[in-house]
Amino acid sequence: MNANSIFNSNLKAAQQPTWPDQGAVDSVVKELATYPPLVFAGECDNLKAKIAQAAAGNAFWLQGGDCAETFVAATADSVRNRIKTILQMAAVLQYFSSLPVVKVGRMAGQFAKPRSNDNETRDGVTLPAYRGDAVNDLEFTKGARTPNPNRLLKVYNTSASTLNLVRAFTQGGFADIRQVHSWNKGFAADARFSARYEEMANEIGRALQFMQSAGVDPEAFKSVDFYSSHEALILEYEKALTRIDSRTGNPYDVSAHFVWIGERTRQLDGAHMDFAEKIHNPIGVKLGPKTTPEEALAIIKKLNPKNEPGRLTFISRMGATLIREKLPPLVEAVSKSGAIVLWVCDPMHGNTYEAPSGYKTRKFDDVLDEVRGFFEVHKKLGTHPGGIHIELTGDDVTECVGGGDQISHEDLATRYESACDPRLNHTQSLELAFLVAEMLRDHKK
Ligand code: PEP
Ligand code: MN
Repeated sequence: MNANSIFNSNLKAAQQPTWPDQGAVDSVVKELATYPPLVFAGECDNLKAKIAQAAAGNAFWLQGGDCAETFVAATADSVRNRIKTILQMAAVLQYFSSLPVVKVGRMAGQFAKPRSNDNETRDGVTLPAYRGDAVNDLEFTKGARTPNPNRLLKVYNTSASTLNLVRAFTQGGFADIRQVHSWNKGFAADARFSARYEEMANEIGRALQFMQSAGVDPEAFKSVDFYSSHEALILEYEKALTRIDSRTGNPYDVSAHFVWIGERTRQLDGAHMDFAEKIHNPIGVKLGPKTTPEEALAIIKKLNPKNEPGRLTFISRMGATLIREKLPPLVEAVSKSGAIVLWVCDPMHGNTYEAPSGYKTRKFDDVLDEVRGFFEVHKKLGTHPGGIHIELTGDDVTECVGGGDQISHEDLATRYESACDPRLNHTQSLELAFLVAEMLRDHKK
């Protein structure tokens, strides 16, 4: 069966590029449909089972990576630094909370962006907005900004090579917990967090030696499960990569293990929600501060009517000033309905502002405060703060202000490399992990 026939093609899809040549899009889609899957449906099911554990409070979800991946930044160094950062954060969270951590990269497919405006104007010149490397190029010229569907083929190839490296690193010994020290090597050392991390790594090392001396050497220490995820935005691409799983006969989007629907494309009667409804992957939906309890329940009814554990994750992104007010009614309504969802906090997208210099930025303290609010809400309601969703990079960039390095508005120009939203750098990510680990430990008390 052609998987495409399962989708309703009459629905409106928000945030799609205006491709200049539909014929070119059709031939790219035809080509993509012949390519092998990037992930195996069975892996998506394994992730679903882990999400179910996190939803029940028995695991913690850590999702991180670029706001927008780019083709040029899909290098070995960049991928390795992101993986090392996520592995370090996961080790910190796991060590202090004693909970397994579900590790998910915003990686190997996060190439498309929704935008507030279709166009961008600079010095009187108006061109199409940058919609991610999947669609056009960041450079501000007419040629670069014209949407080009051939880029979707490059999305597939770059995702494949990134995922290949991710699998090599995480299965080939690099992610062995005994390497916990080596993940810290090569990073510009911030004395406080490095020292704290080294201290923890020593403790883990001692615990491992103790187990080894007692004859315990579990296979589980040698590799980690690391999953890929991105926003399912460009429907031509996601549909072309939706395949019928030979084991179950069910359709899966095999472009990633987990895909989410963004705040701007989650209209109940829109094409993105129809897409999410039909695929069997675990899926996420972003919820902003305008979400009503009725809407949250309607999303559940549409995407998870059978209340399958692990199927649905709600990623709230309220902003630090609103989370304590806007999240509780949603959590209460969902709990009361008996629906099983994983609650994840995205403390990035509600806290973006423009610095005086014009750079888009976020304050580390706002990010932290939103996560704190998220934990407070769940503590009060007796529900589980299931995880965090972070825009980060392993590189030493200056895109978010504050944190241990005390990056100021003036510092932003030093190394601002994001193609879209500002990311926490390596030090800020590690610092956040230590602080969230404390919240998680206290929550369990
Ligand atoms: C994003 O995750 O980069 C994004 C655009 O988020 P949201 O849909 O929450 O605005
Ligand atoms: Mn973003």
